[in-house]
Amino acid sequence: MNVLVINCGSSSLKYQVIHSDSEEVLAKGICERIGIDGRLVYQPKDGEKEITEASMPTHTEAVRMVLDALVNPKTGVLESLNAIDAVGHRLVHGGEKFASSTLLNEQVIQAVEECSDLAPLHNPANLIGVRACQEVLPNVPMVGVFDTAFHQTMPQEAYLYGIPYSYYETYKVRKYGFHGTSHSYVSKRAAEILGRPYEQLKTIVCHLGNGASVCAVKNGRSVDTSMGLSPLEGLIMGTRSGDIDPSAVEFLAKKEGLTMEGIMNVLNKESGVYGLSGLSSDFRDLDQASTEGNARAKIAVDAFCYRTAKYIGAYAAAMNGVDAICFTAGVGENDGKVRAKVCSYLGYLGITLDEKANQARGEEIRLSTPDSSVTVLLVPTNEELAICRETVAMIQHN
Ligand code: AMP
Repeated sequence: MNVLVINCGSSSLKYQVIHSDSEEVLAKGICERIGIDGRLVYQPKDGEKEITEASMPTHTEAVRMVLDALVNPKTGVLESLNAIDAVGHRLVHGGEKFASSTLLNEQVIQAVEECSDLAPLHNPANLIGVRACQEVLPNVPMVGVFDTAFHQTMPQEAYLYGIPYSYYETYKVRKYGFHGTSHSYVSKRAAEILGRPYEQLKTIVCHLGNGASVCAVKNGRSVDTSMGLSPLEGLIMGTRSGDIDPSAVEFLAKKEGLTMEGIMNVLNKESGVYGLSGLSSDFRDLDQASTEGNARAKIAVDAFCYRTAKYIGAYAAAMNGVDAICFTAGVGENDGKVRAKVCSYLGYLGITLDEKANQARGEEIRLSTPDSSVTVLLVPTNEELAICRETVAMIQHN
């Protein structure tokens, strides 16, 4: 099967075409600045990357441009649009309604729309992508793969907040967790790499990218994760604050004369390592600045690592032990200094980092020494492949 994987944001649309048998990426790219001016990046498997500036007033034009590129007689990778057997959509929030991926039909789309209250920044944008594909590929089956679904196995004691229970009953205010596709993919890979049954392994996955979260996976099920009702909770991230005392929200709103929307904007877009450093959300910039003696860049990264290590400790306790700790995503896959700093807190778990192995970037590798009691792994994530697999599984089961 050829699966078109779509990850749609408010002004961008990332795509890949994956052949599900060989799991080969036939083409990939991104439409950017949708609704502003428009830019298509197209990278076929054996060809040169093409960049085309073209008007994309809506996501429908963006999808059309992607499809045109895919069937272009010179540089396309498909003979015709009939070669697309299914579309897999990344959907951010499935609330409590979706504990697994699902075939998308009108009823399901409506149910996802109803979850938009819980993810106003993400779900509406994801659904725009679904609608655009429906318009352009009306007869192709589509599957929604939710970031939250993997975490629906969390027990109540992990997902309830200590607030009046009626808010959970009435509004479903609780921890949901995100990056589920990545946590699931990486924890499964860890079991394969270690040659151990997934159903008997305790893994902590550190997905450290611009958005960052830690997940405790016990016997193949997510039992806790650091993001919450929204992706704002938990770790210090690129621009998101992660955990803070809710009283700080009121305090700062008063001091700065900010509305609720204004303060949420600060916590989502002006905080994290960016806010702490006053410099950048990109760890490459922070590493460089830190090396040049910038104290705030250093403290931003130190705080990020400390918070990550603290969550690892919490989840080792929650699972009464841990067999493997995995690093993944942009920072986790590339930044050996961050991995080393995080692991420097984990000596009590019997972990020693193999410094040579820790120089690796973006490859599957064991980072801990053979005598470590807990194995630390670098496992590059592959959310698109995971979405492709889920899509094929859903279609074959229906
Ligand atoms: P992601 O959200 O997973 O795509 O991760 C993006 C982030 O990864 C960027 O904002 C950088 O902070 C980080 N990153 C990417 N490449 C590197 C690198 N070579 N060294 C350190 N950090 C990196």
